[in-house]
Amino acid sequence: MARFIFITGGVVSSLGKGLASAALGALLQARGFTVRLRKLDPYLNVDPGTMSPFEHGEVFVTDDGAETDLDLGHYERFTGVPACKTDSVSSGRIYSNVLEKERRGEYLGKTIQVIPHVTNEIKDFIAIGEDDVDFMLCEIGGTVGDIEGLPFFEAIRQFGQEKPRGQCIFMHLTLLPWIKASGELKTKPTQHSVKELRSIGLAPDILVCRSEGPIPAKEREKLALFCNVRPDAVIAAQDLSTIYDAPLAYHTEGLDQAVLDAFGISPAPKPDLRRWEDVSDRIHNPEGEVRVAIVGKYTQLEDAYKSIAEALTHGGMANRVKVKAEWIDAEIFDREDPVPYLEPYDAILVPGGFGERGTEGKIKAAAFAREHKVPYLGICLGMQMAVIEAARNLADLGDAGSEEFDHEAGEKRFTPVVYHLKEWVQGNYTIKRKLDDDKGGTMRLGAYTAALKDGSLVSKVYGATSIEERHRHRYEVDTGYRKALEDQGLIFSGMSPDGRLPEIVEHADHPWFIGVQFHPELKSKPFAPHPLFADFIRAAKENSRLV
Ligand code: GLN
Repeated sequence: MARFIFITGGVVSSLGKGLASAALGALLQARGFTVRLRKLDPYLNVDPGTMSPFEHGEVFVTDDGAETDLDLGHYERFTGVPACKTDSVSSGRIYSNVLEKERRGEYLGKTIQVIPHVTNEIKDFIAIGEDDVDFMLCEIGGTVGDIEGLPFFEAIRQFGQEKPRGQCIFMHLTLLPWIKASGELKTKPTQHSVKELRSIGLAPDILVCRSEGPIPAKEREKLALFCNVRPDAVIAAQDLSTIYDAPLAYHTEGLDQAVLDAFGISPAPKPDLRRWEDVSDRIHNPEGEVRVAIVGKYTQLEDAYKSIAEALTHGGMANRVKVKAEWIDAEIFDREDPVPYLEPYDAILVPGGFGERGTEGKIKAAAFAREHKVPYLGICLGMQMAVIEAARNLADLGDAGSEEFDHEAGEKRFTPVVYHLKEWVQGNYTIKRKLDDDKGGTMRLGAYTAALKDGSLVSKVYGATSIEERHRHRYEVDTGYRKALEDQGLIFSGMSPDGRLPEIVEHADHPWFIGVQFHPELKSKPFAPHPLFADFIRAAKENSRLV
């Protein structure tokens, strides 16, 4: 049976709980243990699929088609363990399960209450697959004291009680603010946060304290005394220049040792940190720099494209260059000539997105990349825009567009080169969708296979002819235009195994122009950069040498 580590947060949000959890997972792996990481989110949305990326950042899609919190991206990037449906749950999902059971009469006439019905549902979720790994790390979203979080805190309290002694520990992440005027690091907010936790029956075994600088011995002892933890279980989490230093930094601070001590695991297996030393070396010692323009819509919030930013960094690590990614708002090109904006870059990436706003600018960016032979990576909507660009400017279809935009506008303006996908095959099943279906969880989601054309650029990049990548889209490139486009050099180099759905396009007469219907960024890791990103940055590096 797994040992459980529950990770909670206090004082303020955005302290990097997800990152701390992910780094701890990586450190336990380095000591030879198997891990799984889970996120329990108190908000009432059933999943983040319907939330705006402005509000919640990127939606991270799993192989089994769940739309989850972006923290699952951190987990997967740090541990390499593919996240799945059962690694992410929200209050909305928990309550909707409970209410469905109530309607089915599964509670046999009982009054349905938060304790025990909701807390039982949460505990059942936490325990899924508990025999499969050595450690299960469960992060509770939000901060202690949030109203929505209470059932989760109560559930983990009960869970800890019900398991044999020593099976569960609690780690609490807080902030030690630095007061400039008095030159002091303040422990009081942390003391209050722990007091709040203890009032609901939870006593932390480990305190992880975010601070700008090191924690002096005096403050460490004070925290240990007032918060009732051992001094060596007060772990400093100082600000880092890159998130990929987190495993080594936490190890130096003694986090993994403190966790093993709390479980009484002795002697502790020695860690093998070579993977993270190499990652750190590649990030801190680049041999050059490339500049990539990301032409997108959600440019205000970097978290909206979290995995893309990380995958580009990984691509840089593979080529020992620093990737300077700069975000350009596609709407600027509605008014202005893109050439002076895009000329300074070594490569252009157009990411996924929804809705018409900004799409004309993305089409112009694709045209610029094609004409100027600049490496181009189009992801999902970025692929669809590249196809529309080729249809309009190469295949004489001046009014080519996507049905998505006509649906949104409620009028027919375009020839739909990209159409609404109503039926597709997944394994042995045919999935059917209507336009007016629920918006949540109804896209073509999760891992699907693509067959790659022999001799194509992508097949060389992957070194394979069959790949599996994660999808999240409603619209699809129409194969009816395949011949017209291929005649103009836009090759359909990846197709679904049944040959019906275009997965990848590439321009034959171009050093590196690839559009993919899926999201390769979701599978990239610092220690295993995704081949498409690694080769895209290689091409960018090549291009930067030419100019
Ligand atoms: N909006 C497009 C679709 O639904 C692209 C989606 C995406 O980029 N993830 O097909």
